Amino acid sequence: MQAARLHEYTEEMGEALSIDEIDRPSPTRSDHIVVEVEGAGWCQTDNHIIEGMWTDYVPQELPMTLGHENAGEVVEVGDEVSTVDVGDKVLCHPLMTCGQCRACRLGDDMHCENGEFPGLSTDGGFADYLLTSERAAVKLDDVSPVEIAPHADAGITAYHAAKKAVPHLFPGSHTVIIGVGGLGHIGLQAINAMSATTTIAVDLKDDALSLADRLGADHTINSGDEDVAETIEAITDGAGAEQVLDFVGADGTTALAPDIVAPGGDHHIIGYGGDIHEPSQALVNGEFSFVGNIVGKYTELQELVSLVESGEMHLETTQYGLGEINDVAESLEHGEIEGRAVIVP
Ligand code: NAD
Ligand code: ZN
Repeated sequence: MQAARLHEYTEEMGEALSIDEIDRPSPTRSDHIVVEVEGAGWCQTDNHIIEGMWTDYVPQELPMTLGHENAGEVVEVGDEVSTVDVGDKVLCHPLMTCGQCRACRLGDDMHCENGEFPGLSTDGGFADYLLTSERAAVKLDDVSPVEIAPHADAGITAYHAAKKAVPHLFPGSHTVIIGVGGLGHIGLQAINAMSATTTIAVDLKDDALSLADRLGADHTINSGDEDVAETIEAITDGAGAEQVLDFVGADGTTALAPDIVAPGGDHHIIGYGGDIHEPSQALVNGEFSFVGNIVGKYTELQELVSLVESGEMHLETTQYGLGEINDVAESLEHGEIEGRAVIVP
């Protein structure tokens, strides 16, 4: 089969992956399933992986097939698989979890002690076939895999952060969404679907802000042209935003926290790559928190699929062939993708 593989870490996105002919995976464990990939979203995390940003956090062996936002049809199942069958259409949670450890028993899938993450720690879905496990599969009834693929990671991550924010939101509150890209455009809709807060979308690109506008943002701010802190102060009558969802996580966006988060509020870190350098006194004075977010729980992916099925989520996607994958990597690096790019192997 064909697979888009990373052979060495590089800053050159335009030639990062090579399309190799490799063996089709088969179940090596009784809970494994093989999925014929119909759609696999390209995430900015793929750019981060290519740059080698994950090597301090996750053991990786190259060459490795990338792709962690996968959906398709089950074509083979291990001996003990009982909840999915050959022929089922599935959306794949990014992690293959053990089901036995304490985190798994708490439903906290992302912190499984024995987890494997296809596309990050093992071969992923930018390929004709993907090996994952039964516990990762969410069965799809009414939606096609290629349409829903980005929800496997962009969606679940944005939903997970939104769900943490929602209990702190009330009518009259404000929520800031920084970065209306693949994740952010879903995060905005998840907040709108689950709360009566007033939303403020921030991006450097006018195209991203008009997408935010179409998807129901109450206010938009171009951070290239406007002073974000001053504008948010004016919109919130000086109160600040109760919740901030930062889908960029650059030095410049985390530095906004002391000025834009309301007392006691949260600045959620979802995008990453920058640093947080705030005076400890700013956190004392404002009693605000920085909150980390990594993907989400299996049950949250199920909830998100329900939200999609109820028609409350619009995914802005463009499809590309496997042979165009390095162009996609390069385009995303330069901010030229609207919503999400989906690779159709
Ligand atoms: P994307 O490129 O699709 O979207 C990023 C958006 O942010 C773009 O619209 C861009 O114009 C905007 N932007 C960039 N810099 C900005 C700035 N300084 N101020 C305002 N807007 C800015 O990326 P994506 O795939 O949505 O990923 C977003 C981030 O989330 C990445 O860092 C990615 O690695 C990360 N991510 C995190 C998790 C997690 O579990 N926490 C999961 C997936 C992705
Ligand atoms: Zn586990």
